Amino acid sequence: MRFPALAAFLLCVTAFANAQSAPQSAPWDYEGKRGALTWGKLDPAYKACSDGHEQSPIDIHGARLNKALQPIEFHYIGGPVTLEHNGHTIIVHVDPGSYIIAGGVRYDLVQFHFHHPAEEAVKGKLTDMDIHLVHKSADGKQAVVAIRLAEDRATPPNAVLAALWPHLPTKAGDTEKVTEIVNPGGLLPPDRGYWTYVGSLTIPPCTEDVRWFIFEQEVTLSRDQLLAFAALFKVNSRPLQDPHGRRIEASE
Ligand SMILES: [Zn+2]
Repeated sequence: MRFPALAAFLLCVTAFANAQSAPQSAPWDYEGKRGALTWGKLDPAYKACSDGHEQSPIDIHGARLNKALQPIEFHYIGGPVTLEHNGHTIIVHVDPGSYIIAGGVRYDLVQFHFHHPAEEAVKGKLTDMDIHLVHKSADGKQAVVAIRLAEDRATPPNAVLAALWPHLPTKAGDTEKVTEIVNPGGLLPPDRGYWTYVGSLTIPPCTEDVRWFIFEQEVTLSRDQLLAFAALFKVNSRPLQDPHGRRIEASE
């Protein structure tokens, strides 16, 4: 346990040092004066938010079946996590070691976070929430795996969320460590069929060239779990973006 703790500490110190030396970027919100429709004007660094032609999220429809697409290999491991309320969402920071192989490329899991309601629509319909698992390859390419969450009163609460939710930090800037073992693999749907397309980060600076994987199958959470997150974030999802003719492929 000692080495991961030290590594996590060093990562934090490095991240802090980077934050100190990086130029300040403009604050933004989901609604109001600094809302999603204005992001591109808030900061020159956010230009892609308004000018980009490969922005996310998009409505998933008209996907073409591509039988050559391989299943995503998930190599997720359990470990302690740290929850961070960054004013826009709850970020779950994981220890290094979890990764996926997709399209022959290894992408390491960096963090995952939540949106309410979901960002990616399917045939115009949004689910109650979604989870974005953010990954990075050794050469800096980003891949996000999206899991759409739907409230279901008939099923038990989501087990992974049940481990995380008692530790949700309630104020921006707060963090809380979860010492019990959390394996993000427990969040994945049983059916791993997915849609994939090339898009962007859904928050400023809206960086493009992000490979998206969106599971076709939804995952459930309980009403109480949904309400607990909604109490912290009434709306923290970006509106749908113009697909500009992008190709969406389906794995099955
Ligand atoms: Zn996200």
